[in-house]
Amino acid sequence: MRRKFIAGNWKMYKTMPEAIELVSELKRLLAMVRNVDVAVVPPALFVEPVAKRLAESNIGVGVQNIHDGGFGAFTGEISASMLPGLGIKYAVVAHSERRQYFGETDEGANRKVRALLDNGIIPILCIGETLAQREAGETFSVLAKQMAGGLKDLTAGQVAGMVLAYEPVWAIGTGVTAQPEQVAEVHSWLRNWLADRFDAGSAEQVIIQYGGSVKPSNAGELMRVPNVDGALVGGASLDAASFVAIVKSCV
Ligand code: PEP
Repeated sequence: MRRKFIAGNWKMYKTMPEAIELVSELKRLLAMVRNVDVAVVPPALFVEPVAKRLAESNIGVGVQNIHDGGFGAFTGEISASMLPGLGIKYAVVAHSERRQYFGETDEGANRKVRALLDNGIIPILCIGETLAQREAGETFSVLAKQMAGGLKDLTAGQVAGMVLAYEPVWAIGTGVTAQPEQVAEVHSWLRNWLADRFDAGSAEQVIIQYGGSVKPSNAGELMRVPNVDGALVGGASLDAASFVAIVKSCV
């Protein structure tokens, strides 16, 4: 079975002492887990101390967002050019909360993806439909637009090294999890879309995570769905025991 990739998105939670305590626990509890890739994605302020604490561990570190430019007069922003050398491996792009509350577009997501790839950081590009879009039968047209926009002008080789996170908006932070059949249908569609647009070999290499109320009680079942290569976990990643249980459900 292919190695899974589980990433924990902490969103805008935790103080610095809590962040350090959580990663110290994770480092200890996951030290023996070698056959799953794991990452934590803390708020930007905590990324460097967290990365230092995780140096020489088997847990990677990501950022939740970047600006889409290089350097410039953009007070409060962080650019991809600043990430190399800080122990950061991943960056989440176009999370649905950013699309919904901060006006993130597919064009902006594409600029961010390209900036990250130029700086050797792996983008985790989030896509997913709202409940209204699913009920209107628009799931696949929405996903096709998000994929075409977010991956525009990339080479097959670049896409092969990326992570996609299918996160149906109606399942994020709601406690409602997509049914395994719904996840299977979308993930297989995404894999085929990638094969058509790029090539089958590259499509196979893309890590396609599922995200949306993943917790210890449903992780095992979801991680066994074909074409599910891991999970992007929000709420359940804030607690060491539940995040570790999700990681161990892949072993
Ligand atoms: C997320 O934030 O990407 C997410 C999937 O959140 P949750 O697991 O809380 O639904």
